[in-house]
Amino acid sequence: MTLATEPEHIAISKSKGIGIDWKDGHHSQYPLIYLRDRCPCASCTGTHGTPPRQPQAETPASPFPMFQPALKIVNAEPVGRYAIRIHWSDGHNSGIYSFDLFREICPCAECSVAARV
Ligand SMILES: [Zn+2]
Ligand SMILES: [Zn+2]
Repeated sequence: MTLATEPEHIAISKSKGIGIDWKDGHHSQYPLIYLRDRCPCASCTGTHGTPPRQPQAETPASPFPMFQPALKIVNAEPVGRYAIRIHWSDGHNSGIYSFDLFREICPCAECSVAARV
């Protein structure tokens, strides 16, 4: 693991998102929806032949389409020393977010620019 993918400090807010201070001094802040849409598990990425999940799903099952329960983190547990498993309030919990992934998807302006080069 390189310095850039080693977290110095992880702040998990169950209703807001996850913030990570990296050992190289970089800071990343991930909103909940952003993370949920980037869930790396097989069913979300479609690696087992299932179609990839569409961000912000189409047909609401609820008779009250305006009502969307706010997405929350129910629990986040460390997986070894390299990843976090997130349990979402929508019942999904198979996504294991490695710190490599976290660093790769850092939404800050600096990293988004770097990713486009
Ligand atoms: Zn998933
Ligand atoms: Zn960044």
